[in-house]
Amino acid sequence: MAGIAHIGIGMTSAGTRQRLVRRLTEKGISDPRVLEAIADVPRHRFVDEAISSRAYEDSALPIGRGQTISQPYVVALMTEAILSEGRPAKVLEIGTGSGYQAAVLARVADKVFTTERIGELLRTARQRFHELGLHNIYTRHADGLGGWPSQAPFDAVVVTAGGRIPEALYEQLADGGVLVGPEEHSGGQQLIRVVRTGDDFQRENLGAVSFVPLLEGLE
Ligand code: SAH
Repeated sequence: MAGIAHIGIGMTSAGTRQRLVRRLTEKGISDPRVLEAIADVPRHRFVDEAISSRAYEDSALPIGRGQTISQPYVVALMTEAILSEGRPAKVLEIGTGSGYQAAVLARVADKVFTTERIGELLRTARQRFHELGLHNIYTRHADGLGGWPSQAPFDAVVVTAGGRIPEALYEQLADGGVLVGPEEHSGGQQLIRVVRTGDDFQRENLGAVSFVPLLEGLE
């Protein structure tokens, strides 16, 4: 019976996800790989059942412990920002949270390495990856400010909490790699995109965003 109920939810959500995809297209997301990933990943499985009916609104939602699942548009924008012609082999994400951004990244990259400082959130996210059969996501309960040195270099680094982006994350970018994340400024957060070419780091500003803070240490 549980299985049948799940199929029902899945079918409804496929339609609602298509509406979300159309909305993101209108907002300027165009990479088919990103739109397909958004269409495929069941966002309602990454939030509490009590608010799952709001999962396909284009807004951030609470996931407990004062944290949020990012707005789908921002997830799509960041995913698009790290993609070029090739498929990235290794992506590092800082801030697993609900696991949704990691699940989207797992559709467009070979391997996703994601770190989360709050153990309770990470356990729930791991359970979701397991249930959804997302076997190319590797998780670590760690302070992501130091990156993931043993797996570096990365073709892309995605920071999903706002603050001062630490030097270690730039150092762990491969040549030609891309970092995207919210940087704290006096007037608020700005989403930045940085492309590494040798020792040169080319910066671009993608606009104002609002993320939970990047914090030190474990919980
Ligand atoms: N990518 C997530 C967004 C979650 S919000 C999603 O799709 O749901 C950002 C997350 O970053 C929070 O869960 C927060 O606990 C985590 N975070 C903040 N600072 C961190 C740090 N230094 N290292 C690892 N995770 C961190």
